[in-house]
Amino acid sequence: MAELKDIRKSAFITYRQCNRRFDYLYKDPHYWDYGTDKTLPPDDPRQLGNEFHDACDKWYDKMRGATITKNFTRTFNNPFNVEQPPLFEWFNWFMETETQRWIDLEEHGKSGLWYPLACELEVQYKAPGAKVGMTGHIDRIDVLEDNTIQIVEYKAGKSYDMTNKYALSNMNQEIGFYAVLLRDSKAFPDREIKTWKVINPKLGKVWVNRISPISTRAVERTMSEIADKVSNGSTKDFDKNISVLCNWCPYVEECLYGDSIL
Ligand code: SF4
Repeated sequence: MAELKDIRKSAFITYRQCNRRFDYLYKDPHYWDYGTDKTLPPDDPRQLGNEFHDACDKWYDKMRGATITKNFTRTFNNPFNVEQPPLFEWFNWFMETETQRWIDLEEHGKSGLWYPLACELEVQYKAPGAKVGMTGHIDRIDVLEDNTIQIVEYKAGKSYDMTNKYALSNMNQEIGFYAVLLRDSKAFPDREIKTWKVINPKLGKVWVNRISPISTRAVERTMSEIADKVSNGSTKDFDKNISVLCNWCPYVEECLYGDSIL
């Protein structure tokens, strides 16, 4: 049997929506090109998101050791070629927000906590005895004043509005996925992984939530279920979930019309 590739978060989330779609995705060679694809148009939401992440990471690198003041953002414009809208607006908002976080920490004499513990941290997990593991990149990890870890995600889409219950539920799954990988990778074994934060520059919003142990437990169960099915290698193990989402599924021809189920 060919070597099984680790399951990425996006595939994990797809599995929760439709088991069969996960199977198509996992076996699709184009899926594994993602991240190396340099052909995305500049206004593609994924490309904008990538550039925003990149600018944020570089900003922290540049800021290490700097002194931040209340007027800081006005004198620190456009450091990373993000002139074009909407990145310009997004990044300015981000700098304002992060500057305020620095000022708040400074008031408590804790400005050293302002710098992320890690950015774009790659985490992996393989359960004992499993033939396939899980992998992901966490956008950012912060340490809070109580010495606990906060998982930070940048989400630059209007659908990532945590006042929407559907979006919140998806985010709990995503963060649960990362929390399990981070815990089991033992990258920071002495710190509790306690909260998550979503930063959405498109909506100009920040949300903070506690990591739900229920979500984490559900994620662990699903991970083990997927690992077993993938190792088995049979498409029959992956049930179809026919819903309105099939209208936007790239595998609909093969899945539904191919075997004349409709
Ligand atoms: S067409 Fe529908 S049932 Fe088939 S894989 Fe896609 S989402 Fe699943």
